[in-house]
Amino acid sequence: MSGHEQQLVQETFASNWIAPLGPQVDAFEREICAYTAAPHALALSSGTAALHLILLHLGIGAGDEVVVSTLTFSASVNPILYCGATPIFVDSETESWNMDAHLLADLLAQKAAVGKLPKAVILVHLYGQSADIDPILALCQQYNVPLIEDAAEALGTLYKGRAPGTFGYAGFYSFNGNKIITTSGGGMLVSADQTLIDHARKMATQARDDAPHYQHSELGYNYRLSNVLAAIGRGQLRVLEERVAIRRRNFDYYQETLGHLPGLTFMPEAHWGRHSRWLTVIQIDPAQFGADREQVRLALEAENIEARPVWKPMHLQPIFASYECWGGDTAAHLFNHGLCLPSGSALTTADLERVAQAVSRQRVS
Ligand SMILES: *Cc1c(COP(=O)(O)O)cnc(C)c1O
Repeated sequence: MSGHEQQLVQETFASNWIAPLGPQVDAFEREICAYTAAPHALALSSGTAALHLILLHLGIGAGDEVVVSTLTFSASVNPILYCGATPIFVDSETESWNMDAHLLADLLAQKAAVGKLPKAVILVHLYGQSADIDPILALCQQYNVPLIEDAAEALGTLYKGRAPGTFGYAGFYSFNGNKIITTSGGGMLVSADQTLIDHARKMATQARDDAPHYQHSELGYNYRLSNVLAAIGRGQLRVLEERVAIRRRNFDYYQETLGHLPGLTFMPEAHWGRHSRWLTVIQIDPAQFGADREQVRLALEAENIEARPVWKPMHLQPIFASYECWGGDTAAHLFNHGLCLPSGSALTTADLERVAQAVSRQRVS
C-alpha cells in the first residue's frame, strides 16, 4: 500500500457507504477511464467476473467456440466454460510471448471456410507486455468477430502510446493481490459500448429489473466491487506510474547483473510499446547455463527465495487437454525454460542483489 489508501478508506467509513456501490466505486470507474482513456468502466469483484459478463452479454453459450491465447492463467479460459462454450487455443509469437497473429489468421480462414466462425477472440497481454494488437484487431474486424482483451496483467502497459484493454470490443483489468496495483481482489471492465456496460452492471447486481419490488427476468450474479475496496483502488491508482518505474528498475537491475551469463535471456520488450515489467521473466537454456529452470528454481527455494515457472500453457492443462490448439510449441518452450523472478514493488536493492547472486551461483556450480 502507498499510504493514500488509508485516508480514502477512512473517508468511506465516515460516509458509511459500506456496500457494493457508492461514491468510491463511481470515482474509481471515472479514474480508470481517465488513466486508460476507456470511454466507460464498470468496477467488479474480479477480472474473471468481468470476462464472464462480457461473454454472457455476447450471448455465448453451448456449441459456440471462443479463441484464446494458450500461454496464460486459467482465468482467461474458465469463463468460456462457465458459459458452456468451447475454447480454441492459439500459440505465442516470440517477440512479445503473446498471441501469434499468423496462427490466428490461419485459424479464422479455416473456420470461415467451414462456415463456423468463433464467437469471440480473447487476447491476453502477458506479464505486463502488450500483444501486437493491430494485426489481430484487423483480423477480428475482417471476420466480424469481437475482440476481448484480457489486460489483467497489463495495467500500466502501453501499446503505441495507448492502454491495452481499450482497443477491442471490451477489455478488463484485475486488482487481485498479485497484480501491479491491488484492492486485495477486484476487477474493471472497460468498453466503448454503453449497452454492454449497462447490461453487465445489471447482471452483476443480481439482474434486478427496474421495478419497485424485486423482479428478475434474467439470470443474475453477485459480482460488484465493494465501495471500501474501490477506495483502496483509488489510492493505488495514484502510485501506478511509480510502480511501473519500480518494476522496470527491478528488471534493469536483474538484466545488468545477470544479462552476461551464457544461456540466460530475458523476456523481450517488443518495439510497439512499454512493458510494465510487472514480472521479470527469464529463459534458461540448460545446455549453455549448466542448470535447468527447475534446478534454478529449487536452488532459489532452498535460500527462501520464491520464483515460479512461466504459466503452464492451457493446452497442456489436464482440464483443457481435449480442446483444439493452433501451434503450441512456442508456449511449451517458454514454460519449460521460463522462470519468473521476485518482482515486487517493495524489493530493496539488497533483496535484488541476494536473488541475482543466488541465480549466478547456479551458473558457476
Ligand atoms: C489475474 C488474471 C486474471 C483474473 O483476474 P482476477 O481478478 O484474479 O479474477 C485473468 N487473466 C490473467 C492473465 C490474469 O493474470
